[in-house]
Amino acid sequence: MTDVRVFGSDGLDATIAVLRRRGYDVFGPTLRDDVVTYGPIESVADLPVGRGDEQSPARYRSRARGDGALFGYAAPVQSAKAQFLPSDELLWTSRPGDAASGPVIERQAAERRPVAFVGLRSCDLAAVLQQDRILTQRAHADVAYAGRRAGAFLIAVTCSDPADTCFCASLGTGPSPGEGADVSLTEIVGDGPHRFVATPGSPRGTELLDAVGAGPASDEDVAAAHRVERRAVTRMGRELRTDDLVGVLYASTESPHWDAVAERCLACTNCTLVCPTCFCTTITDAGDLTGGAAERRRVWASCFTKDYSYIHGGSVRTSTQARYRQWITHKLATWQVQFGSVGCVGCGRCITWCPAGIDLTAEVATLRAGDTALKSSRAAGPRPSPRED
Ligand code: SF4
Ligand code: SF4
Repeated sequence: MTDVRVFGSDGLDATIAVLRRRGYDVFGPTLRDDVVTYGPIESVADLPVGRGDEQSPARYRSRARGDGALFGYAAPVQSAKAQFLPSDELLWTSRPGDAASGPVIERQAAERRPVAFVGLRSCDLAAVLQQDRILTQRAHADVAYAGRRAGAFLIAVTCSDPADTCFCASLGTGPSPGEGADVSLTEIVGDGPHRFVATPGSPRGTELLDAVGAGPASDEDVAAAHRVERRAVTRMGRELRTDDLVGVLYASTESPHWDAVAERCLACTNCTLVCPTCFCTTITDAGDLTGGAAERRRVWASCFTKDYSYIHGGSVRTSTQARYRQWITHKLATWQVQFGSVGCVGCGRCITWCPAGIDLTAEVATLRAGDTALKSSRAAGPRPSPRED
């Protein structure tokens, strides 16, 4: 029989406290500059209590929900990527040694406290597992990433209020958390007492629920959790047909639709920076003017920049058409060939945070439909500009 527990917000507070006492750096959703993002938390009071959000292409607004929900919004602006694969990371420093030993290189020590997430979205949990496969389970593991992931404790949450931009249900990555979480939560608000239905996903998840005294859930608790999930599926704002994505993208290599997208795309890189699965980085070296020290850093990179494809003699992808085509073809098609799954978890961030409101679900649908859809969209005139409110 499945082990299902239930506790109130005091139980969630106790969970955060236990994790902190055990030495974890605890992260969860927080409100910063009126935007929900993951950040350090010390108690339930640090969560975006009673806040919801509205997300649509090129638009994000935080709003008051009028209730005490702790997880009543869709994907935060950033995923867990920033904690496990930081946007800017010092790899090593060097200084001149003596004539006999040569330069002294000091690698950055990997000493850090383990990370715990409380309230990780289902799509973000799926993205963490994707990055694990790519960065730690192939021939050469990324040591820095693996060090951060080692021992991480993940408490994921069912999305109760997906945004207009969400489509995780199409990809099987939500709205309820799949495998990989130590504990999966569903928050029940406005359907009996405010409570959390919790399912352990690992022995240490079971142990934590025991430690905070989470009692067994009733049949009504479990039914209420199912209602939250079913309602979320019906509220999902978008969908992405996943059949034959490789065939559709490969057949679209020479599509004139890339020109139509490039007319709108600013090549700003926002979509790649907010994407929880994009993992590309580059290396920067810098030395001080006296020659006394140098450092090497690893920073996030984006295939939307011209420099990203620079090789001897110049860039391979000099046009925005080519760069958008590269991104979406890799994300949805060649990723499957390389890593065995679609490289998108349906979080919708690239739609919300694209200043031009470019929507990959719409672009794929147009490519799928071929030139007919392109001609009719052009006949309908230019698309509206993103809202300015
Ligand atoms: S698709 Fe949108 S977010 Fe991505 S680079 Fe183009 S304008 Fe920026
Ligand atoms: S491609 Fe867009 S919707 Fe898919 S995981 Fe990345 S940001 Fe989310």
